[in-house]
Amino acid sequence: MAPTRKDPFSSFPATAQDVLKAMDRALDDHRLWLQQWHRAIVCHQMPPENITADDPVLQTRLGLWLSAHRGQGLLKQAAFADLERCLAEFCEFGRMLALRAPDGKPVPTEDYDAFVGRADDFVFQARRIQDAFRKAVSELDPLTGLHNRHVMMQELAAEYDRAVRNDGQCCIALADLDHFKRVNDSHGHAVGDQVLAAAAGRFLSRLRPYDSIYRYGGEEFLIMLPNSNPGTAVSVLERLRHALADRPIVVEGGARLSVTASFGIASLGSGVSLKSIIEQADTALYRAKESGRNKVCVWAGEKDD
Ligand code: GH3
Ligand code: MG
Ligand code: MG
Repeated sequence: MAPTRKDPFSSFPATAQDVLKAMDRALDDHRLWLQQWHRAIVCHQMPPENITADDPVLQTRLGLWLSAHRGQGLLKQAAFADLERCLAEFCEFGRMLALRAPDGKPVPTEDYDAFVGRADDFVFQARRIQDAFRKAVSELDPLTGLHNRHVMMQELAAEYDRAVRNDGQCCIALADLDHFKRVNDSHGHAVGDQVLAAAAGRFLSRLRPYDSIYRYGGEEFLIMLPNSNPGTAVSVLERLRHALADRPIVVEGGARLSVTASFGIASLGSGVSLKSIIEQADTALYRAKESGRNKVCVWAGEKDD
């Protein structure tokens, strides 16, 4: 079948959404393939070319797609090599049985059972990939590609427990883009979206490997900095602040927009709830805004409230 724009097998690099669509399409193709196979066997007909060709796997859209992009992008994951193996075993065994159909000899029961087992293995593996990718997609904020608030709460709670248990240090920070409403008002919401995604990318690229950043909501991000005291947190966040402020963001159409952000830091510690710590970071952020924006402030204790 000629690829169409909507055909997930015609595009690469694949996103998680492409993979989900590709698995849907592959399961539909698989059903059709099995129908053709059963018709040939039951009615003693010559099976169609795509089943009897020397390379039946490459007659399927999934087989072509997997072999063309083997080891690339998301298809690097071992689950796709397993899927390709399941597809090959199913198609080749099916081909071998189908070629005997015109003779009129029945397929031996054990061969038929083995074939059905291979067909099920393929479906099972494709569904496993779908489940994993659906979960990943549901945890991501679609605009920025960052983890969403739901994941944030789980990971913050785990880090909070770890810090309290080990008497360790961990800081969190809230970051908020400055005067972001003006970007939307002057350039439109779509450009605002591009700026938001670009800012998230700049922040992400300057974090240490064990830090995490989440879309907290709107134009706000929460950053988790494990094993950090406030001094270390300030130096990491200054890096993020510069990453945004020092270079304009170029949006579609070529406009260069200067964007800054303000940051508020608080420490995770025993005796204070996670909710209160986020409020402390918010208080520090408010001070960064009040004192001129494009700044990093640390929560300064009760006197800050
Ligand atoms: P401040 O420096 O005080 O933070 O000013 P601000 O303009 O950034 O803050 P304000 O809270 O007044 O406005 C935030 C704006 O962010 C308003 C809202 O429309 C915009 N915004 C929130 N989420 C999104 C989004 O997903 N896309 C776009 N384009 N805009 C968003
Ligand atoms: Mg805000
Ligand atoms: Mg703002």
